[in-house]
Formats: sequence, structure tokens, C-alpha cells
Amino acid sequence: MSITETTIQTEQEYVLQTYRRPPFVIEWGEGVTLYDAKGRAYLDLASGIAVNALGYGDPETLAALTAQAGKLIHVSNLYHTIPQAELARMLCQASFADRVFFCNSGSEAVDGALKFARKWAKTHFRPGKTGIVAFEHSFHGRTFGALSATSKEKYRAPFEPLVPGVTFAPFNHAGAAAKAIGPQTCAVIVEPVQGEGGIFAADPTFLQALRRLCDAHNALLIFDEVQCGLGRTGSLWAHEPAGVSPDLMTLAKPLGGGLPIGAVLLAQQVANAIEPGDHGSTFAANSLITAVAQVIFRRLNDPAFLAAIRDKGQYLDKGLRSLQARHATIVDIRGRGLMWGLDLAIKAQEVIKLGYQEGLILVGAGENILRLLPPLIVEKTHLDQALDGLDRILTQLEEK
Ligand SMILES: *Cc1c(COP(=O)(O)O)cnc(C)c1O
Repeated sequence: MSITETTIQTEQEYVLQTYRRPPFVIEWGEGVTLYDAKGRAYLDLASGIAVNALGYGDPETLAALTAQAGKLIHVSNLYHTIPQAELARMLCQASFADRVFFCNSGSEAVDGALKFARKWAKTHFRPGKTGIVAFEHSFHGRTFGALSATSKEKYRAPFEPLVPGVTFAPFNHAGAAAKAIGPQTCAVIVEPVQGEGGIFAADPTFLQALRRLCDAHNALLIFDEVQCGLGRTGSLWAHEPAGVSPDLMTLAKPLGGGLPIGAVLLAQQVANAIEPGDHGSTFAANSLITAVAQVIFRRLNDPAFLAAIRDKGQYLDKGLRSLQARHATIVDIRGRGLMWGLDLAIKAQEVIKLGYQEGLILVGAGENILRLLPPLIVEKTHLDQALDGLDRILTQLEEK
């Protein structure tokens, strides 16, 4: 048996089957290309779900990783360490935030933000101000807290009862938000661009309305930028075009260059409600990960790098529109920067499957939505390659 066959067989025998994986084994990557164990190349349009912003084998990332690994990997959060303090400073100086809490994933960041909001409300207001407002099509993660704010019934139902107090309002509907947010609300959580839910961008006026409603009802506004943040949409923060700031913001996916890290960014007035012992994590933001994250963050927070993302985004936008003109199976195209969703009249999974044969790694976002999340270092020639591949795939599926 080949290494591909034995690996797949072993995985299927011993790993809990929570994912359906395609029939190849990814062995290594370079730039925006992944290679399987049979030596086949794939253009990566998923980035490990918006994680690998700098692609694979970035020399500066590798240098930071190996240098820090030789010095210190982990000592826990009981002690001061240099790379963690430095990363926290960088994140605060580039955002609305005054403080950072570190954790290990996007779900943990959302859990942390919700806990901090509850503690803040308990500190300042009468009991009962515990309500959390989230939105339809939201995705905030799979842990109990984050899942409680995730709208998809299929993810929630098997695990109920979840954390109580969460209500869901229609996305991009200021009138409905005004009805949902009240004196009982302690926090409102929203993705400035919804990811898993299908690439729906919040209207700037919607985020502005949420800011006003939160201020009017003494509720905290949480922006979940785990997927859309850190340059993905062409600005460092996806909420920038709306011109409003949150009280808390969650980050994760691209921050560690593939190593697990999450972060909750907080305004000082929220931080004031938190005391030593209120929350914690053994692994969070160890020296290895934060040394790497500094490199990633510095590279992503470069105005020229961000401008290039906007430029490539416009190029992709144009290419996708001309693809849509030729393919009736493309119902709608949505996106910004290098975060795009294609609403299809067919199952996204069919396109993804043929994508593997074309040498394209694609992901879905629900049954009929194809998501494009290439590494942010992608070049226009790669985007042409992706568009040509999609053209052939859709032609093939339309002929069926
Ligand atoms: C992926 C995601 C999460 C959850 O992150 P994990 O690291 O998978 O726990 C939370 N919020 C958003 C917006 C995400 O896209």
C-alpha cells in the first residue's frame, strides 16, 4: 500500500470522524502551493481556513520559529515573558484596544469576550443584565460559549442546552437590532464580515447602528474578527470602513502563522472589571507562538501589503464578475479584499471535488456557497489560474 492509502486508512480507523476529508494526503507546502504525498501540486485557495496568510515556508517566520524554539517554548502564564508582552503592545498600538487577553483559538477568544462582558455587566449594573445578542448566519465557534452565539441549528441542536441568554436577530437589519437590544443586554457580538455563514459583509450603517444601540443601553459591542480581521479584507481590521470601534474584539486564525493562538482585545473600561484569577489558560501565548505572531503581525500591518490585498481583491472581483457572466450557476458574488463567497445554483461540494482534480484547494461555506480565502501573498497569476480552473469546472458541471 502507498503512504496515501495507509495514512487514510489509519486516520479513518483511529481519528474521531468529525471531518469528511478528500482522498489525498497533504505532505508539504511552499508559497501558495500544497503538495500531496503523490507529488501532485494544488493551488491553495483556502489557507487552512484563513490561517496561512503568508502561505507556506515563509523564511522570516521560520527564522523566528527556530530562533525562539532554541531559547524558550513555554513556561505558562504564571511568569513574565518577553515575546508575549511585545505582541500585546503591538496589537494595542494598532487598534482601539488598551489590553489583550491571550488564548489558543477563535472559540476560546469568543468565550473569553463573553465572560468579560458578563463580568463587566455584573460589576456595574443590577443583576439580570446578562443578555447576549448575536445574528443570523453567525459563526463564533464550537465550544459551549461560542456555540451558544452561533446561529446554525445543525451545529447547536445535538448539544443543547447551551449557555442561556443568547438571542439572534436578522443580520444587517438595524430596526430588528433595535428591538433585540435593550436594558437586559450585556453584549452584542457580530462579525464585520460573516465567514462560515456565507461571506456577508455588515453594512457600515448597520455597525454604526449597533454602536449607537450599545451605547444607549449600556451594552458592550464585540466584533468577532477571527476570520475577517488582520488584513483579510484589505484593511487591518474589517470594521475600519464603518468608522466605529468595538469594546472588545476577538482575533485568531491568521495571527500565529499556523500555530494556535487567539486574542481578546479590550477597551480599558472593560479591562477594569477583570481581576487576577477571573480567567486564564495554561498554554496561551507561549514564547514560541508570540515570537512567530510578532513576525506575522508586522508583515500584515504594513500599508503596502494591505494596499496590495485591496488591489488583488479588485482584480479578483473583476475576474469573478466575468466568470459569472459566462456561468448561470453563479447566482451571486460577495466579498472584499481576499475574502470572497460565490452563491451557486449547485452544491459547493461538487465544485470543491472537481477542484481537487484541477489542482485547486477550495472550501465551502454552507451547502451552496463556495469560499475563496487564498493566502494574502497570492499573486495575480495565481488568481488567473484559479479563475481558469473554476471556468473549466463550472463548464463541466453545467454540461451534466
Ligand atoms: C473560525 C471562527 C471562529 C472559531 O475559531 P476556532 O479557532 O475554530 O475555534 C470564531 N469566529 C469566527 C468568525 C470564525 O471564523
